[in-house]
Amino acid sequence: MSVKDRLRDFEEVCRKEGLKITHQRLEIFRELLNSHDHPTVEKLYHRLRPKLPTISLDTVYRTLTTLEQHGLVGRVETEESQARFEGEMEEHHHAICKKCGKITDFFGEIP
Ligand SMILES: [Zn+2]
Repeated sequence: MSVKDRLRDFEEVCRKEGLKITHQRLEIFRELLNSHDHPTVEKLYHRLRPKLPTISLDTVYRTLTTLEQHGLVGRVETEESQARFEGEMEEHHHAICKKCGKITDFFGEIP
C-alpha cells in the first residue's frame, strides 16, 4: 500500500472507531510510515520535534500505543528493553543484526 492509501486507511479507521484525527496523530503516523528502521519512541520523537516543537515524548508513546491497538501500526518484539514500532503492516519477518541491532524487513517465506 502506498503512503497515500495508508493515510486514507488511517482516516477511515479513525472515523469508524471514533478516534479523533488530530494534527499530531497524523504527523506521528506519517513519520512512522516514512521510517523504515523500526524506530524507538525516542528516535521518532526527535524526528518529529522540528515539525511539532510542542510535542512530548509521552504523547508520542501514547499515540503509538493507541494506533497499535487499532491495528494501524505494529510493535516489534526485540530483546531490547525499548519498544520499537513500524508502519509496515503487511505480513513480514524481521532479520535482526546481532552486532548493531539493526532490523531489516524480510518478506515472503523463510527458505
Ligand atoms: Zn518490519
